[in-house]
Amino acid sequence: MGSLCRYKIKLYRTDPAYEKGASDFVRDVAAALGDVDMIVCPCIDCRNIDLHGRSVVVDHLVTRGMDESYKSRSDCHSKLSAIVSLFRLKTQNGWSDKSFNDLLETLPGMLPADNVLHTSLYEVKKFLKTFDMG
Ligand SMILES: [Zn+2]
Repeated sequence: MGSLCRYKIKLYRTDPAYEKGASDFVRDVAAALGDVDMIVCPCIDCRNIDLHGRSVVVDHLVTRGMDESYKSRSDCHSKLSAIVSLFRLKTQNGWSDKSFNDLLETLPGMLPADNVLHTSLYEVKKFLKTFDMG
């Protein structure tokens, strides 16, 4: 990423708090996940499907912006992809049910009030069942 790109970003993202906000968001999510290095990126391009290192996710959020559907819409796809991504993380990392529950309870507090994430492992499993994935 060149400096020209950075310059355009700075022009586009006029709020100086945005980068700090993105950085805080990533730090909080990583902490909620148990201080992991890789988290699911909620940017426009990754859409909660791709895993990236923390600094990359911050970069994506600053340069690309957060996925609007993640922020404010409640369409089925974004809901499904977010939950599947989280569940995949749980499986891959062998998180306990308790830690996953804690994460699910923590995440909604970081999201807008109309966020669509379910807030318990039981709910997630029930939700995945409806898609034959749980
Ligand atoms: Zn991304």
